[in-house]
Amino acid sequence: MSKFEELHKLKEKMEKDDSLPLKKVANKLVFGVGNTEAKILCIGEGPGHNEDMQGIPFVGQAGKLLDKLFPLAGLERKNVFITNIVHHRPPENRDPLPNEIEAYGKYLDEIIKIINPQVIITLGRFSMAKFLPDVFISGVHGKKFEKPFNGKWLTVIPMYHPAAALRNGNILESEKRDFVELKNILATIFKPKDDIVEAEQTNLI
Ligand code: URA
Repeated sequence: MSKFEELHKLKEKMEKDDSLPLKKVANKLVFGVGNTEAKILCIGEGPGHNEDMQGIPFVGQAGKLLDKLFPLAGLERKNVFITNIVHHRPPENRDPLPNEIEAYGKYLDEIIKIINPQVIITLGRFSMAKFLPDVFISGVHGKKFEKPFNGKWLTVIPMYHPAAALRNGNILESEKRDFVELKNILATIFKPKDDIVEAEQTNLI
């Protein structure tokens, strides 16, 4: 089965899972979007209003900023797969609760296993905490860490959440610098022949 098919199957399973704690209060499941063959996985926090309406991550204002940040790192949306820590919208966009992060985490782990990325870019403190539980984002943003996951080492690069950058000009400037530096970090991980830019297969889930 291709990664695309495996992810589709997982999405269907998630859609039928009535135990997911935010399902009743949300409109659509926001499973993930992007290139299912990507070597880079981005993990955000949770869907907002626009994402909840469309069922696609990062389509609102934060997503528009993310689309402007990607090119600073030599990336486009088609080079990455994007998902979230929780896949239904928390009411009033509140922070996801620990039990919610745990419930959706089972599925997130499956998504990570299927995509099998070399690099995970976390967007915001909730996805950062999955891999780096004991740090403050202000101290580690833009740096790279090697972390074990499912028996292999992954490069994890924590970034500020684009929504935080929209609220605070200093964070925005820092975020831009981090994406410029991300280009250098990625160049040490991917050789040109690895073609992170011209991925062969772009499957939108
Ligand atoms: N913010 C997130 O963290 N995820 C989305 O999908 C949209 C906004």
